[in-house]
Amino acid sequence: MSLLSDLVAAVGNGSIEVVDLTAPLSTQTPILTLPDPFWQTWPFELVEISRYDERGPAWYWNNIKTGEHTGTHFDAPIHWVTGGDTAEDVSQVPPGKLVAPAAVLDFTAEADKDPDFLLEVDHIKAWEAQHGPLPPGGWLLYRTGWDARSADQDAFINGGRTPGISVECAKWIALESPILGVGVETVGTDAGGAYAFDPPFPCHSFLLGSNKYGLTQLQNLRRLPATGAVVLAAPLPIVRGSGSPCRVLALVQR
Ligand code: MN
Repeated sequence: MSLLSDLVAAVGNGSIEVVDLTAPLSTQTPILTLPDPFWQTWPFELVEISRYDERGPAWYWNNIKTGEHTGTHFDAPIHWVTGGDTAEDVSQVPPGKLVAPAAVLDFTAEADKDPDFLLEVDHIKAWEAQHGPLPPGGWLLYRTGWDARSADQDAFINGGRTPGISVECAKWIALESPILGVGVETVGTDAGGAYAFDPPFPCHSFLLGSNKYGLTQLQNLRRLPATGAVVLAAPLPIVRGSGSPCRVLALVQR
């Protein structure tokens, strides 16, 4: 038996479960909205080409309209000015980095009490004291319970009050931790109030500026163990793309 045939057998008999961390894509998928004068991303939309009709008698197909940063998506380093124009675009992310271990940090209770809750370095240190060090080259998946709101744009955006990561913590993750990137359940990796931080949007600023990545609008993190899950993140290889809608799956040993 090879490692891969063992893996396939384990997926087949359920001893490894494949958990889908991806939000369904539709016109209802919540999107980020920016204040004036900034331009907006598009919601997801299907534009029908034909549906077993005169436009194409035997086939149904659509064009799609979407922002790169719509729904569950991947942020590439070129997305932020700190990465800049020469940083990796989403087509240049090495495929070997798209299969990676995950640490899942659950702050649902804190975010429940305070929608502006911010993850701090001490929270991560306390998690490490209990679960061991963050996995080198892995994802830090930050659970806040926000996926429960993901069917409703207003509840999801919550008037701009959504949990995130403090400036110091974002800097620490980017510069000192061995983490590949941060995954969140919210509309972006930064807190709803992060436009007013110094620097603004510290998670984007420090992580993408350090050739690290972001994953957003994840679901079902509650079904993952604190350690031991393996994440498969599959953004489209959009040439010069700053990000991409992304299918994100987790392998979990049962
Ligand atoms: Mn994004």
